[in-house]
Amino acid sequence: MTADIRTPLLAELDRWQANGRIACFWLRDDDAVKPTEPLDRLMDLTRRYAVPATLAVIPECTGQELANYLQDKPMASVAVHGWSHKNHAGENEKKQELGAHRPIEDVIAEIDGGFKHLQALYPQQFTPVLVPPWNRIAAPMLAELPGLGYRALSVFGPEKAGPLPVINTHVDLMDWHGTRRARAHSELASDIARRLRQMFETGGTMGLLAHHLVHDEQAWAFLDALFEITTQHPACRWKSLPDMLGQR
Ligand SMILES: [Zn+2]
Repeated sequence: MTADIRTPLLAELDRWQANGRIACFWLRDDDAVKPTEPLDRLMDLTRRYAVPATLAVIPECTGQELANYLQDKPMASVAVHGWSHKNHAGENEKKQELGAHRPIEDVIAEIDGGFKHLQALYPQQFTPVLVPPWNRIAAPMLAELPGLGYRALSVFGPEKAGPLPVINTHVDLMDWHGTRRARAHSELASDIARRLRQMFETGGTMGLLAHHLVHDEQAWAFLDALFEITTQHPACRWKSLPDMLGQR
């Protein structure tokens, strides 16, 4: 069954190896607020393969309990997932917390509060990166981020140049609009291979987006197979977000 994943990935990674190149992968997992069984499963899986994970944590909903839990998991880093993951967009609009629906000062105050709350909870593991809920943020907010201490933005899709570095995710494990389960393994693998082909020409990283709280067995199986294939391949390196920012 892993042939669906193995064949397209190895075709690409072998080409990288033949050209003396290393492809950088990173894992972002969204919506953590407290220790749960699925988070345990994610932490076990990533530890088994020594894959660093960046957890986009929702500041308003989290506290010391998660911080205590993550303390002995140095491979995990924590980024700011908006403030409360509340939707302020209208009924017929795409969901947004950090959109242009409220005065910019109010949104900036939340983005600032999220930074400070998580930085205090995670003196070692905090990474000053904003992950807007639903991967959307109104453009005028971006110019404010460096002044608040943010060093990068992470959304989904191709990186767009802006006032601060952008380190995106490119492949989403879940099928949000259809089954709300994991996407087909063959589709996921061909999306990753496509991203690797782009990176071969233009540089950049391969960001995988996960949501531990809603993973079905297919999602876990994909992660397991992907980690197994890629961590054994000399042309693949899983990096942490702090490493990519030069924090450590
Ligand atoms: Zn989210």
